[in-house]
Amino acid sequence: MAKLREYRKKRSADATNEPFGDDDAASSDTRGTLSGAFVVHLHDATRRHYDVRLEVGGVLASFAVPRGPSLNPDDKHLAVKTEDHPIEYLEFEDVIPEKQYGAGPMIAWDRGIVEYLEGPAEEEIANGKLHIRLRGMKLRGAWAFVKLAKSVKGDEWLFFKKNDEHASKEKKIIDDLPRSVMSGLTVEELEGAAKIGEKLVARARGAKKLSHDLLAPKKSPLVSAASGTVEGTDFVFDPELDGVRVLATRDGDVVRLVTFGANGAPEDVEAFYPEIVRSMRSLPVARVAIDGQLVALAESGHPSLALLAKRAARFAKGEGPRAAVEQPVVLVATDLLAIGDLDIRSLALEKRRAILTSLLPELGFLRAAPVIGGSLDPIIAFCKAHDIAGVIAKKNDAPYAHGWIWVPSGAAPRSRATVDHEAGDAERALRKVSVSNRGKIFWPEEGYTKGDLVDYYSAIADVILPHVKDRPVILVRYPDGITGKNFYQWNVPPGMPPWVRTISFEEDEHTRRGFLVDEPSTLLYIANLACIPLHILACRVPNIDEADFFTIDFDVKQSELRHAITLAKTLHGILDEIGLPSFPKTSGQSGLHVIVPLGPDQNFTTARGLADLLGGMLVARHPDIATMERVVVKRGPKVYVDTGQTGPTRAIVAPYSVRAVPGATVSTPISWDEVDRSLDPRAFTMKTVPKRVAKVGDPMAELLKARPDVARAVAKLGDLVRPA
Ligand code: MN
Repeated sequence: MAKLREYRKKRSADATNEPFGDDDAASSDTRGTLSGAFVVHLHDATRRHYDVRLEVGGVLASFAVPRGPSLNPDDKHLAVKTEDHPIEYLEFEDVIPEKQYGAGPMIAWDRGIVEYLEGPAEEEIANGKLHIRLRGMKLRGAWAFVKLAKSVKGDEWLFFKKNDEHASKEKKIIDDLPRSVMSGLTVEELEGAAKIGEKLVARARGAKKLSHDLLAPKKSPLVSAASGTVEGTDFVFDPELDGVRVLATRDGDVVRLVTFGANGAPEDVEAFYPEIVRSMRSLPVARVAIDGQLVALAESGHPSLALLAKRAARFAKGEGPRAAVEQPVVLVATDLLAIGDLDIRSLALEKRRAILTSLLPELGFLRAAPVIGGSLDPIIAFCKAHDIAGVIAKKNDAPYAHGWIWVPSGAAPRSRATVDHEAGDAERALRKVSVSNRGKIFWPEEGYTKGDLVDYYSAIADVILPHVKDRPVILVRYPDGITGKNFYQWNVPPGMPPWVRTISFEEDEHTRRGFLVDEPSTLLYIANLACIPLHILACRVPNIDEADFFTIDFDVKQSELRHAITLAKTLHGILDEIGLPSFPKTSGQSGLHVIVPLGPDQNFTTARGLADLLGGMLVARHPDIATMERVVVKRGPKVYVDTGQTGPTRAIVAPYSVRAVPGATVSTPISWDEVDRSLDPRAFTMKTVPKRVAKVGDPMAELLKARPDVARAVAKLGDLVRPA
């Protein structure tokens, strides 16, 4: 916590898109760091610079290097030590919004492993010298940071390459390799990434429309090779790399890496490759399908199936984060099947490969396989010399279809390892949410912890999920509990599991993101993000323009619950009369909500119109206790009948949602019989509601089945309000 104090002081969690950091990692006092992950960001802020960040004791020690790294040992570049960054920053790549600290685009220019050569990193930094070895995609070999003796503030250092086989006086690495290792974009392109994506899609014009089946296939769409003879010219030769063949797809934030067994059945393996998932999500196109090979590179640079198998085994044992750092994996893409809304399998290979090469960088977690053409003999000789089993010959003018030819090189067969994604129960590994900071106090008065919150949501998953399923859920995070700062989660948090679905919608010219909480693991994931209440929109994907319920909120802040009860009962009577079902719940604070389901095919205008009309009738019938006055001070000691919670971007607190208030009260569905003088909303808390649900079930269950005749109800309501 203390380590990130300066980082957090400079940023406001609700305005920046940067990670705020998990306290677990940062507070653990891990002395003696001898190795870890590193990232080099290229940051185009007020002044363009590179940020070299090295993992030390659970955080990233950061140095701003204006001139960037140089492979020439004579170039000793100034490096200014800046505040420690949270470990999640390893995955950060985005445009930091205007007016925020460090505003401007930032790409992940390099990633890899750092080793501290002369002792624990903490001691080295304290002593003002840091000798390291980098194993990145771009930066390799020995480097040093040395603190300037005359450093005024103690934060000025020199950063330089040490002499070894990776040093070079000629190569200009920052000019030669400008692209991100995640998105493949340059820092200049990042802000206009969507435009770059559109241009790539435009190059595939003429292809047919993409069907969703290709993004979530039930059987393998991957083409395989058969033996045969290569006749004629105009072939591409793809050497067979030791790895795992996958179909890699992205559909918005949902990324899948699918292998196909001997029977052609798909197996999702994305949980084992988070860096590939993160990179797929950062591509400039929202939909893509790639045919490629997942490959673990040995230190020599050669693909190693044994290393890939070892890594998968460590993931299955729950050692994923460490294994991902120590054994990075890349996806070598050999074909592009879909881009944007187009299925491009009918286009010529040459065209598909050209688009693929523009989409993916040559060095990165995702990379386009080099296009190797020419005559076959020297390529086969090269493969034999390098222990590569052979090449697949593919015709340049052919669509994505069978007809590929396998040409063995005659290299001695290696001992083949098998990569077991089932090890330790793949399904469990896939959906496992590891809860951090269980003991952290979230409700200081009661002593309730984050673990209590997670346990609550897991206990009531069966009753809450049907109510939130397919609805955009707006997340408000309380990383320090109910008394700390809270903020909306409008972007994809680093490390978000590949199976968490999100949906974007427009609100006041901003693109907002709702999360789709359809299964217990997603519920646990968001509880682990310290989201206390769940706010839902009154619509379900894909029909987000259709309202399927409206809410009338009886706000008693300036009045009393008994008046809200009177009003709710009157409302119930009117709704019964016009044939609309209605379901009460406590707001979880002091008031009451009445939810009126509308069924399918209704819009927000109808929903809001009905809510307003009903609100007006309640005020007319009970002018002494009800008001719809928007100006708070003009309301007087009356119940505020709030009908404004229905609209395409208006969210209400979900049934069974915990509130971020003392007592950890829950917005609890109740039966109409319970809406009486004895009702005590404070009795429904995170601690009591699971027992209540076990006993009485869900009084709101019928809401899910309701299909009322809305047109008839509107007509009847018209009769009621019109003077006879
Ligand atoms: Mn910076």
